Amino acid sequence: MTTEQIVDDLDRAVGSALRRPGDDEYDTATQPRNATADQHPVAVVAATSADDVRRAVRAAADAGLGVAVQATGHGAAGTVGDDVLLIDTRRMNGVSVDPSARTARVGAGATWAEVNAEAATHGLLGLAGTAPDVGVVGYTLSGGIGWLTRAHGMASASLRRVEFVDGDGEPQVADEQENPEALWAFRGAGGVGIVTAVEIDLVAVPDLWAGYRLWPITEAESVVAAWTDALGQIDETLTSAIGFLKAPDAPVVPEALRGHRVVHLSAASVSGEAGFEPLERALRAAPEPAIDTTGPCDEKRLAVIHLDPPDTVPAIGDGGWLTASTPAHALAILSALGVGDDAPLAEMEIRHVATTVAAHADGAMTSPPGPFLLHVVGPAPTVDDRRTVEQAIDVVRAAVQPVETGRAAASFRDGQTTVPGAFADDEEERLRSVRQRYDPHRRIRRPRSV
Ligand SMILES: Cc1cc2nc3c(=O)[nH]c(=O)nc-3n(C[C@H](O)[C@H](O)[C@H](O)COP(=O)(O)OP(=O)(O)OC[C@H]3O[C@@H](n4cnc5c(N)ncnc54)[C@H](O)[C@@H]3O)c2cc1C
Repeated sequence: MTTEQIVDDLDRAVGSALRRPGDDEYDTATQPRNATADQHPVAVVAATSADDVRRAVRAAADAGLGVAVQATGHGAAGTVGDDVLLIDTRRMNGVSVDPSARTARVGAGATWAEVNAEAATHGLLGLAGTAPDVGVVGYTLSGGIGWLTRAHGMASASLRRVEFVDGDGEPQVADEQENPEALWAFRGAGGVGIVTAVEIDLVAVPDLWAGYRLWPITEAESVVAAWTDALGQIDETLTSAIGFLKAPDAPVVPEALRGHRVVHLSAASVSGEAGFEPLERALRAAPEPAIDTTGPCDEKRLAVIHLDPPDTVPAIGDGGWLTASTPAHALAILSALGVGDDAPLAEMEIRHVATTVAAHADGAMTSPPGPFLLHVVGPAPTVDDRRTVEQAIDVVRAAVQPVETGRAAASFRDGQTTVPGAFADDEEERLRSVRQRYDPHRRIRRPRSV
């Protein structure tokens, strides 16, 4: 059968949601936010309903094709070839909040900006990450670490119910009563099917304070020392991150620092100004920052304090969970590549994510596997750039060795196709067997194999 005939068959089975190569919407859907991924699926299903998803998976099964799913493409990696039908969920972005239950029902394609805009009207927030345009489902299924992690746990633990289509195209539900094994896999290990909607817990944060500070990189030693000094006195109401960042050429950065490497300290407190006190005290030993935006905060301001790039970026990154000894090594890790403006990584960051909450939710990863998280990332528009970034990542890995937990952080391996060591052996085995049950023909393709 020719590719054309396969697409004609898909068209008949899927109907008006099918987009062929050459269609504008096919082109848009195959330009993921992480532009290192090359995507030329046989066709795209511009899904608007769970029925579209069900029809797409069945049609792919009949045609002997694999199925991949994408909302924003932030998590894209590797090639999606013409043996795959791509389901584009962006239009399935409905959000409805139940303020009395403090939950939200979220469509498969909704972003955190869309969910938190709605949640905030009820004085609530979801457990978003740093970037507003990341998809709720992709983020939550792979764990989800954000500004409320220390106070309220990982997003995967806030997952109550999942509506999904399994590898045979059957609609299913996973919650504590029905298909609890599937729910276990959806909570942090990517799950077992194509999600059409989720129900998540929301939290009330009436006294949110947050912001970022920037210093020239020459102040790195004293700022990192102040942050690490403060960590012992900070309680779980404050989540913070320190990074060496190539500052964007944007109005949020003082002009003198734009395009230069800077120290970026960002933090959020759910106990208002009081949560910041230990950090403020420690920072008196460091020079004044070039900018300090810390103050009362809403969901919109919270979504920009990390200075994530707003545009499509071809990025290669790495992430791993680190031990409690990290503060003593933080400066060495962040300086491992030197601190010049031309260092190949755009960002090297350590997040303090230690938390004791949320261990109640049974899931593959519902609490951080280490108290600190390392994330490093660099732009890789060409093969040569990719090699350079990968070599830089190797240098950082060597610096991190003394504080490694041995656990990789799947979400933060930008543009990479594997995540060795994301889970313990017995968890990997359990995941394999749950996936075998819901997708026996291994129809569902994921960019990053755990
Ligand atoms: C700028 C930036 C900032 C980030 N910040 C954070 C952060 O603060 N904390 C954090 O934890 N992570 C963060 N991440 C990582 C992010 O959580 C992952 O890349 C996540 O996978 C993105 O989900 P997405 O839906 O936006 O991307 P997509 O590429 O659309 O999806 C990623 C993967 O999720 C799965 N998926 C998506 N939709 C479905 C579905 N309907 N059914 C089944 N599987 C699905 C698929 O395997 C898909 O390939 C960040 C990433 C970027 C690029």
